[in-house]
Amino acid sequence: MHDYIIVGQGIAGTMLAHFLRQKHKKLLIIDRMHHQAASAVAAGIVNPITGRHFIKSWRVDELIPFAFQTYQSLEKLLGTKLLEFKNIAMIFDRINTVNNWAMRSGNPEVEAYVHPNFDPSFYRQFLEQVEDGVEFRQSGRILLKKVIENYKKLLQQEERYLEEKFEHEHLEIQTDSVVYKGHRAHRIIFAEGYQAIHNPYFNYLPFLPAKGDILMVRIPDYPANDKLVKHGVFIVPWKDDIYWVGSSYNKTYKQEAPLATEGEALKERLQRILKIDFEVLEHLCGIRPTVRDRQPFTGQHPVFSRLFLFNGMGAKGSYLSPFFAHHFAQYLDDQCPLDSSIDIKRYFKYFDKNKH
Ligand SMILES: Cc1cc2nc3c(=O)[nH]c(=O)nc-3n(C[C@H](O)[C@H](O)[C@H](O)COP(=O)(O)OP(=O)(O)OC[C@H]3O[C@@H](n4cnc5c(N)ncnc54)[C@H](O)[C@@H]3O)c2cc1C
Repeated sequence: MHDYIIVGQGIAGTMLAHFLRQKHKKLLIIDRMHHQAASAVAAGIVNPITGRHFIKSWRVDELIPFAFQTYQSLEKLLGTKLLEFKNIAMIFDRINTVNNWAMRSGNPEVEAYVHPNFDPSFYRQFLEQVEDGVEFRQSGRILLKKVIENYKKLLQQEERYLEEKFEHEHLEIQTDSVVYKGHRAHRIIFAEGYQAIHNPYFNYLPFLPAKGDILMVRIPDYPANDKLVKHGVFIVPWKDDIYWVGSSYNKTYKQEAPLATEGEALKERLQRILKIDFEVLEHLCGIRPTVRDRQPFTGQHPVFSRLFLFNGMGAKGSYLSPFFAHHFAQYLDDQCPLDSSIDIKRYFKYFDKNKH
């Protein structure tokens, strides 16, 4: 008998497995590594200040330090590098943004994240349309794919892993447990990312998945490989002279696989801003588990008390997942109530009892 079956080992499922494993729970993780899983293509950027109006992201003062601390402890556990601290250089391509920044820069909330040494002339050497910019600190990049792959190995060594597609129709819900193809557990937690839209128990929730396309490009002699540069798109140092460039944000996508026109559009955007030559190596895409109110979807099923959801990490899974997985593990253990801002109870009115 397992304590928990977790369906999905993206960054959300990985983090939840990690904190439940720390509590010595017996786990079974089921995943088939879907091609469009967001965690497999995301850059893993941890970015405290976002958008043209320089808004401090939701609860970053507690979420980001907790995330960095968690990935550092995972580095020790897994014996590999998973976190890169890098400043974010935001380039302003128009006067409007320069003015917006002038209005926001004195705000103490934002000021704490500003690194004083932004020099536009450095960026003008290799970027077009540089009016000005700002550099933010307390930021970085999580090597999400590496976190997941290494954690998977650990789970496999401990014989806690089933590499296959979970088929919801095979789930038996009993009064004291759930059974999936002979595997019995006290509870099951779904962490399927955007594929929750196919989960018959939780697809009543207002998921609004957003597709994101990215390019992997080679840029020999790119001078800012110690920074995460945002100039419309992000240019993120990946490995040697290879960079991650992205991403698009599309809520009305018609197909899940990469679309050539999206790849071309990204390439054109890069051509417009980069003065140096580059070569496109690969075009990939993933689908973000974004939700209507941009707050995670976690909690217990309204009728089946053995079924739980851990999802809705949206466009910020790299630093939302550690904090909320830790909190969720505490909640599952009856150590605290679930934070109401992430509890799916806020959407119970959407649940139609007659369908279940
Ligand atoms: C292009 C792009 C760029 C992004 N950049 C960033 C960024 O810089 N920083 C950041 O913080 N976030 C970023 N994100 C968002 C981030 O990727 C997500 O928030 C996060 O990865 C969501 O993780 P998840 O585990 O919930 O979902 P996923 O990563 O989608 O994982 C879900 C897992 O469930 C498995 N699964 C689903 N259904 C089944 C089934 N029936 N049977 C078996 N397995 C199943 C899948 O195989 C998958 O492994 C980006 C996303 C995209 C698409």
